[in-house]
Amino acid sequence: MRIADGKNMRRVTTISALHLELEAARAGRQRVGLVPTMGALHGGHAELIRQAAAATDLVVVTIFVNPLQFAATDDLAVYPRDLDGDHAIAQAAGAALLFCPTVDEMYPFGPSNVLTNVRVRGVADQLEGTHRPGHFDGVATVVAKLFAIVGACTAFFGEKDYQQLAVVRRMATDLSFQIKIVGVPTVRESNGLAMSSRNRYLTREQRDGAAVISQAMFAARSEISGGVRDFERIRGEVQAQIAASPVVSSIDYVAIVDAATLETAGPQNPVRILVACKVGTTRLIDNG
Ligand code: AMP
Repeated sequence: MRIADGKNMRRVTTISALHLELEAARAGRQRVGLVPTMGALHGGHAELIRQAAAATDLVVVTIFVNPLQFAATDDLAVYPRDLDGDHAIAQAAGAALLFCPTVDEMYPFGPSNVLTNVRVRGVADQLEGTHRPGHFDGVATVVAKLFAIVGACTAFFGEKDYQQLAVVRRMATDLSFQIKIVGVPTVRESNGLAMSSRNRYLTREQRDGAAVISQAMFAARSEISGGVRDFERIRGEVQAQIAASPVVSSIDYVAIVDAATLETAGPQNPVRILVACKVGTTRLIDNG
């Protein structure tokens, strides 16, 4: 059995080259771990890769900035890219293969000429689904493609993108993918700010100030854990605290929802607090 030793990670750019690698791994009865990313790797991604390396024999990290999940007004063109830095982080965390396909490789007819989309309803419709129309269609489509390309494996996704994790889980079940999905808790900066590739856009002052998001959320979390179920009041307090921060320029939503369905929180079931806001021009999401 080949143990991922953090050395000699190989980089492949084509689906056929990846298939060859995976066929060899499976012939050696290796269990495959998959960590899909858009690159600009940070400590959150590294944690996903470490967990994948601990649970499987061969970890594939994919780096693909998927045009399908960005709106025309989004930051696709300037989304941070740092392949050398990514290589070092993925290798150190225990990845064996880095799959970095081109847009042509993933969308041979062009990203604006994809005729087959995966659309998840229900869990994808509110929150991010409302504020970023089409976003989850792009995510579900590219993740379905990655699942089809990689085949049976254990795939690791961050709770940082809580709704995305729920969408991917539902999609994998609905489409009968032979994929086990593992959710990994959010990795944070020392001030509580959730690590994100987009944090690179923040100034020092904005990074410091953005700590208000997790602080407000965790205060609400402990109130709820203490038995308070007045969600509308708690939600309003979180929103007011975040809105009062001088670095926050706008709030898309603060929501307290059922942790499993992401629908209206009931009096009994576990709940999740989800936040999306802008710090300067950078849109951040978090949950807890
Ligand atoms: P991205 O590159 O932003 O598409 O993220 C790739 C994967 O890393 C997704 O499953 C994210 O949820 C996960 N991820 C991003 N940031 C974090 C974080 N701070 N902690 C844990 N997982 C994360």
